[in-house]
Amino acid sequence: MKRDAAVAGGGEAAMDGLMEAVAGKRDEVAELAADLIRIPTVNPPGENYRDCAEFLGERLGKRGFELSYVRAEGTPGDSDRYPRWNVVARREGARPGPCVHFNSHIDVVEAGAGWTVDPFGGVIRDGKVYGRGACDMKGGLAASVIAVEAFIERFPDFPGAIEISGTADEESGGYGGVAYLARQGFFSKPRVDHVIIPEPLNKDCICLGHRGVWWAKIETRGRIAHGSMPFLGDCAVRHMGAVLNAFECELIPALAARRTAMPVIPPGARSSTLNINSIHGGQGEDFDGLPAPCVPDSARMVIDRRFLMEESLDGVKAEVRGVLDRLAETRKDFRYEIEDLFEVLPTMTERDAPVVQAVAEGIREVMRREPTYVVSPGTYDQKHVDRIGKLKNCIAYGPGILDLAHQPDEYVGIDDMVDSAKVMARALHGLLGL
Ligand SMILES: [Zn+2]
Repeated sequence: MKRDAAVAGGGEAAMDGLMEAVAGKRDEVAELAADLIRIPTVNPPGENYRDCAEFLGERLGKRGFELSYVRAEGTPGDSDRYPRWNVVARREGARPGPCVHFNSHIDVVEAGAGWTVDPFGGVIRDGKVYGRGACDMKGGLAASVIAVEAFIERFPDFPGAIEISGTADEESGGYGGVAYLARQGFFSKPRVDHVIIPEPLNKDCICLGHRGVWWAKIETRGRIAHGSMPFLGDCAVRHMGAVLNAFECELIPALAARRTAMPVIPPGARSSTLNINSIHGGQGEDFDGLPAPCVPDSARMVIDRRFLMEESLDGVKAEVRGVLDRLAETRKDFRYEIEDLFEVLPTMTERDAPVVQAVAEGIREVMRREPTYVVSPGTYDQKHVDRIGKLKNCIAYGPGILDLAHQPDEYVGIDDMVDSAKVMARALHGLLGL
């Protein structure tokens, strides 16, 4: 049964040929990942995006791809010094058919301290490629390029279309990258049918989506007075202390008790969570000399609430407001304001979606095991494909170990890149209907 798809595309021999073609590019995939790492696309501020987009574009242009370079002008961080460049490469097939798109972000986070190799040296050693972005996600980008190139060599008359994009700013929300392109129709039907994002989630895992996010700023208000007579004022920091206490005693335990049917990894994230990102009140920390003797009249807290498919965004917001409203009823002079900063709904592609089925079949054939289906605790660019592009047929699948992302001595295994490239090539074969 499992072999039927391969038989339809020219037989098992053709599929074996495709797998051999990918395997034959082992050195090439390592070199490509290393070359990409050597372009330090650190975000913030968003350096060298153009160089990286052009490096990718030049390679794919030589292989018959049409190139669109898109600068996300006016998006956060875009400036003449740090322009938000993206590249979308498209290769039309010999006849009409669906389009499969591989999307990778080209930005990486700062190197940070603690490295034993040059984070932008593209060091290849002991079967691994080291460097900032090796696993998140230049290794995944390299694997997808190799998969597509091997596929085109073996099936030059393929139907449909193949796209590869290198996009900016995923690490800072994707506004200058996938969100901007999605608004221009780059991630919608009829242009695109299936999207695979090679984020590092391990080569036998299919990431179906992510939890939701709501960031908000809560401010408590008080009244300024002399610090020697605090009873003449009203301390906004103490009011914020009451908020913290209520979160600690009521909200956080209630969230921890809520479990989801989403297969979120790690399992600790299979509940609702609340992080307190920051808290500030009264005089700033950067004062010169002695602190001012004042009762603080304002305190601010930023919260990061991650929520589940089983919860609604309105319900999530109402729950926090409920805690604050109860304090307003029970605590003298308690006043607050709350401001939405950022929100993303949870998303989860169905397991029977064609892109999930095709990648699952690839994992079974290449890895000889059942795929693990996962959901990411945090969001990634799939949110824009879903929300702006209105395309449900999107997953993350790529090589690399998620835990290594953003760490010193980040690396990607060369065998992992090759194996995931084989899975991607097989998925491409299946999705294009060969
Ligand atoms: Zn990433």
